[in-house]
Amino acid sequence: MMNWMETRLVRKKAVEKTVCTNCGKIVNENSWFYREEGVGFHLHSLIARNYCEECYKKHGENVLIKTQQSF
Ligand SMILES: [Zn+2]
Repeated sequence: MMNWMETRLVRKKAVEKTVCTNCGKIVNENSWFYREEGVGFHLHSLIARNYCEECYKKHGENVLIKTQQSF
């Protein structure tokens, strides 16, 4: 059994300006970005990380997810 909270990145369209957690770039409204979501649990949007498409393409989901934050 896993004793850490598994998360994944889900591609979404921004409904408001969103800052990329990795590079600090602003994702404008109606642009695509990747939001971290919990697998099998609800990850609060305040602690969910957001990534721009550039970072996602550059690093990939596995690298971004591996830098697990400590809750
Ligand atoms: Zn970025």
